[in-house]
Amino acid sequence: CGIMGYVGDKETQRVLTEGLRKLEYRGYDSVGIALNDGETLQHEKSKGRLEVLEEKLEGAPLAGSIGIGHTRWATHGRPSDENSHPHLDEQSKFAVVHNGIIENYMEIKREMKEAGYSFTSETDSEVISHLFSHLYDGEMVSTIQKVVDRLEGAYALGIVSEHDPERLYAVREASPLIIGSGDGESLISSDIPALLEHTRDVYILEDGEMAILSKEGVTLMETETGKELTRDIFRVDWDM
Ligand code: GLU
Repeated sequence: CGIMGYVGDKETQRVLTEGLRKLEYRGYDSVGIALNDGETLQHEKSKGRLEVLEEKLEGAPLAGSIGIGHTRWATHGRPSDENSHPHLDEQSKFAVVHNGIIENYMEIKREMKEAGYSFTSETDSEVISHLFSHLYDGEMVSTIQKVVDRLEGAYALGIVSEHDPERLYAVREASPLIIGSGDGESLISSDIPALLEHTRDVYILEDGEMAILSKEGVTLMETETGKELTRDIFRVDWDM
């Protein structure tokens, strides 16, 4: 129900949890984050409120200058630790947060199980992380195109991968996603207020579009063709 993502030099874990706190009003039953520490993906997630996750993180904080976070409003699968996002593939090479509903997940899940993938959750979203693992071709943009080509339904996705530790990827189809472009940092969020502490320069991602984010900036593309888009930045001039 809420997505947050960050790449930059601030303390990523804090940016993610503070961002998720600002998205709390959207309602949620579980919460989680995944960070890439430059070598591997680390994640922590939990049923319940943000405080529960923060307690877990207190003893074992996650390091890294890139990460994604999620507050879940369960649609497929009860609220539980396993069903919380992010969802990772078996090798923990990809971490995905998903807002929305994948209508054809049963068909994909059956297919992926036949191909030997084992699932740890009851969600519709978990098919996405296994699809990444299955369809990865050595390049993130073309892999994302292949993955979303399989998906029917509504999705805003935030993706980080061990294969590409300096870039955060975002895709949108019928679920909201905002991109923030800051000074030496870039962010994604389901809503503008969670970005304002960091930047007022945003792009509203449209259906059928994806974004590549790094410390250097943001690139917007048409998802299907990979055609780069030029769009004026939207400067937020109001306060919370
Ligand atoms: N359909 C997904 C799930 O149930 C995502 C729900 C959401 O948007 O929070 O896990």
